[in-house]
Amino acid sequence: MVGDEAGRFVGYTSDIKRFADYKVVIVPSAFFDEDVYGTSQSEPVLPLNSIEGVPFLFGKPEIERAGDTLVVHADLVASAFFLLSRYEEVLHRNIRDLYGRFPGKESLPFRAGFIDRPVVDEYGKLIRKWLKSNGVKTVEHLPFIRKIYLTHDVDAPFYNRAWRNVVRKFFSGHNPLIAIRDKFRPLLWDPNFTFPWLFQQNKQLQSAVGEDRCISFLFFKAGGKTKSDKPRYNLKGKDIKALFELCREQGVSVGLHSSFQAGLEPSLIASELKKLEDAYSMAIKHNRHHFLSSREPEDMEYLEKAGITDDFTMGYADVAGFRLGTSQPVRFINPVTKRLSSLTLHPLVIMDGTLEEKKYMNLTAEEAEDYCMKLIQNIRNVNGDLTLLWHNTSVVYGRGYLRDLYSKLIKQIVVSSQ
Ligand SMILES: [Zn+2]
Repeated sequence: MVGDEAGRFVGYTSDIKRFADYKVVIVPSAFFDEDVYGTSQSEPVLPLNSIEGVPFLFGKPEIERAGDTLVVHADLVASAFFLLSRYEEVLHRNIRDLYGRFPGKESLPFRAGFIDRPVVDEYGKLIRKWLKSNGVKTVEHLPFIRKIYLTHDVDAPFYNRAWRNVVRKFFSGHNPLIAIRDKFRPLLWDPNFTFPWLFQQNKQLQSAVGEDRCISFLFFKAGGKTKSDKPRYNLKGKDIKALFELCREQGVSVGLHSSFQAGLEPSLIASELKKLEDAYSMAIKHNRHHFLSSREPEDMEYLEKAGITDDFTMGYADVAGFRLGTSQPVRFINPVTKRLSSLTLHPLVIMDGTLEEKKYMNLTAEEAEDYCMKLIQNIRNVNGDLTLLWHNTSVVYGRGYLRDLYSKLIKQIVVSSQ
């Protein structure tokens, strides 16, 4: 949480004899006690307490001095662990939505009113402040976004290219000759093929902040037989080959979009990964689940086993914000075994449909822009990363406000980064 060598001045102990070894001590609550961990007794009680304006889950909002040491009774360590490990999803296996996902609106950060704040990063900031007030040199940063990931899931790359759409148009009264003509027109004429426009937007930000700080990603599906995996596309067909080529030309990274079925049966991730690697002729290390439908926290183990090093799934579909309580990349912690894995999770902060869809946040264009800017500002304040997910289908010309919002957000981040 402290993020630099000043961390060695912070202790996590209730042993009074050891307080003098540190400049700041966090006193553990009962959360990790054997007879508490994993039981309903470990549930935080609402309303939560705050310390210096930052909500925390366990302990008391008290700070005292013991000699040269600041002793903090707010258990920021257990609070961070609870949020980072998705502990509550294990405690509440019975709460899942239609797609088997833990709903954001049931989450503690949402219910306690801080889903829009990366509070774990704020804990780090508080601890650094306490260390500084106690004479320890800490690195200070101005508001700054460390890395920006502009990501796009390739769910439905084309509209006119598949024969089933030609047939559908025929039965809905369209001129069949036009439907057939549209199928064979150049790819750039396909209404869903908005990737060149998206990449153009991304380039504006990349030229402003540098390609090492702003990375553009396309996540491709490579399997899945459920209804939610439709439409399927041929990774070896000429249209996807053309899209792969565009990615190479434009310096866009390619990742796996694990299928909805692989969300249900995570053992399928490995074969989907292999299929995409074969088609793209390159090792793939990054993943995001289709429908964000990685279900149980432990399922992340399958990603690691398959050779994925970085996952971008961790956001809620129904509410934008900080699912893991942080805007920083963090390593996956299995809440059942408490094992810290080698898999890095990049929190997904904003998905396009979350803002607009009636069943999710149902925001107007103006409300969505204000909310996004608030999230972005909160990331700047803690020097975190920003991951956006915008689908090619939501920026189809004339379809809602998401196209306009995307270019507005890009422009605003360009301005605020200068
Ligand atoms: Zn998807």
